[in-house]
Amino acid sequence: MDHNRKCKSCDVKITITEEELLDLIDDLRKRGVDIASYDVYQRRLEKCYKCPHLDLTGTCQLCGCFVKIRAYDKNKDCPDYCESRWQDI
Ligand code: SF4
Repeated sequence: MDHNRKCKSCDVKITITEEELLDLIDDLRKRGVDIASYDVYQRRLEKCYKCPHLDLTGTCQLCGCFVKIRAYDKNKDCPDYCESRWQDI
C-alpha cells in the first residue's frame, strides 16, 4: 500500500511521513507554540487511538487535524463537543 498517495479530488496527501511530522513539529516550535510534555502527548494519542472520531489516516474528523500534530500543542484541546476526551490529562 502506498501511504503517500494523493487524494484525487483535492490533490493533498492523506498521510504524512515521520520526516514530515518532525518538520511540522519543528515548525510549531519555531512559531513559538508551547509544546506538550512527551507524557501528555502520549496520553492524548492513546485517547485518540480509541476514539471513534479518528479516521484511518490519523485525522480527527471533528477538527480536521492530524492528531499527531494537534496533540503536541500544549494549548490545544480535544474538539469533542460533548466532552473533551483530553480533559483528565
Ligand atoms: S475527538 Fe478528540 S480524542 Fe477523538 S480523535 Fe479528535 S482530538 Fe482525538
